[in-house]
Amino acid sequence: MSTPTGVSRESLAFRNAIDVVRGVEPAVADAITAELADQRESLKLIASENYASPAVLLAMGNWFSDKYAEGTIGRRFYAGCRNVDTIESIAAEHAKALFGAEHAYVQPHSGIDANLVAFWAILAARIESPALKRLGARHVNDLTDADWAALRRELGDQRMLGMSLDAGGHLTHGFRPNISGKMFDQRSYGTDPATGLVDYDALRETAREFRPLILVGGYSAYPRKVNFRIMREIADEVGAVLMVDMAHFAGLVAGKVFTGDFDPVRHAQVVTTTTHKSLRGPRGGMVLCTSEFSDQVDRGCPMVLGGPLGNMMAAKAVAFAEARQPAFADYAQRIVDNAAALAEGLLRRDVRLVTGGTDNHLVLADVSGFGITGRQAEAALLESGIVTNRNSVPADPNGAWYTSGIRLGTPALTTRGLGTAEMDEIADMMADVLASTKPAAGADGKPSKAQYTLADGVADRTVKRAGELLAGHPLYPSVDLG
Ligand code: PLP
Repeated sequence: MSTPTGVSRESLAFRNAIDVVRGVEPAVADAITAELADQRESLKLIASENYASPAVLLAMGNWFSDKYAEGTIGRRFYAGCRNVDTIESIAAEHAKALFGAEHAYVQPHSGIDANLVAFWAILAARIESPALKRLGARHVNDLTDADWAALRRELGDQRMLGMSLDAGGHLTHGFRPNISGKMFDQRSYGTDPATGLVDYDALRETAREFRPLILVGGYSAYPRKVNFRIMREIADEVGAVLMVDMAHFAGLVAGKVFTGDFDPVRHAQVVTTTTHKSLRGPRGGMVLCTSEFSDQVDRGCPMVLGGPLGNMMAAKAVAFAEARQPAFADYAQRIVDNAAALAEGLLRRDVRLVTGGTDNHLVLADVSGFGITGRQAEAALLESGIVTNRNSVPADPNGAWYTSGIRLGTPALTTRGLGTAEMDEIADMMADVLASTKPAAGADGKPSKAQYTLADGVADRTVKRAGELLAGHPLYPSVDLG
């Protein structure tokens, strides 16, 4: 919408904000402006990134940033939190309605934080509370030192079953470099080597034998739907809590692309997410849960989280309100249509895909058929104006650093308005770059896993094609910084 001067409200808002910043530290104002220019020029296929709306971006910069509000709605450790209560309630109510959840906790600062809140809520509900009851105590402070030491050992001796990293799981699902792997005895489930799909029978067998406290569903690099009804059956059979980390595909749940057996909120007791990936909100996290876990989840701050960021909760509330509009369901459907078109385009050009395709927002291409590593593919594509990220494929011989795959996602380009025809064009550009990339010789004369050569002219012609494609779909068309 334009103002009487003919300049859009969004343009004025951002111009004014940047001018105010420039008055204090011009270098920061310049970097903000440069970041918008870079984002406008890049053909972004990073599966975990998106572009939040101007309303979401503007909601982040406000006075809530100055307010401490430890605790939760109506139960704060600080005075003067009535406006934070309002914001947090609006965000939580929108989230509950959007996902059909019994309870929503919108404070987590990120996806990792949301997972930590969930783990400790489950430990508190399933281990700590029964122990307190057994010992006749109301609070941990009432325990003797000996009872407390025994309870701490019990809390630290629980089991978690999550998807393996090379099948697409996430580091926070019990892997050793992350705190979750140091807290839990972890085992992982993989995918069927023949199909690349989750093998529910094998998962059931592992769960029966391992008997985890928490069965974790969700992924960051698995290109297919997951049947959460079956996962809940397995969890119930072995007495585990089903927790699903829907960080990557929350937008597809919100947009009703994933329904029924594929909707984690219908089946899991605890669901965590980020708010910035396919959900297209501000960077942040959230926990949804059944009423069994709500009191414990609400203790996230100060249990494991620093004080809530009211300004970010304001932006989450705006993003959730946007996601409740019918246009968001259309957006979510276009994300998966675009991913399917990208996958088909790549397959037609002989690019091998893990599982042979996709039914979500991401595509995992195995580039080993081109004789290069994921790292070389990522670098050659970047040089050619296409931003992707390297990723392991199941049983990856090149490990997690060099990898044999690249992960591609369509949420960001779909927000820009690109459609299935453009996805086919992108597949063509990518196949051209991949086929023109060769490993360079390393210091020992063997093919390097990092250095590469790209045939003359390919990068230039691809950058030009990418630029032409993006020019037809401007990013933030209502924002002109003048
Ligand atoms: N969970 C999953 C499945 C993810 O893919 C990610 C991020 O990539 C996270 C959690 C962590 O999110 P954040 O970076 O917001 O902590």
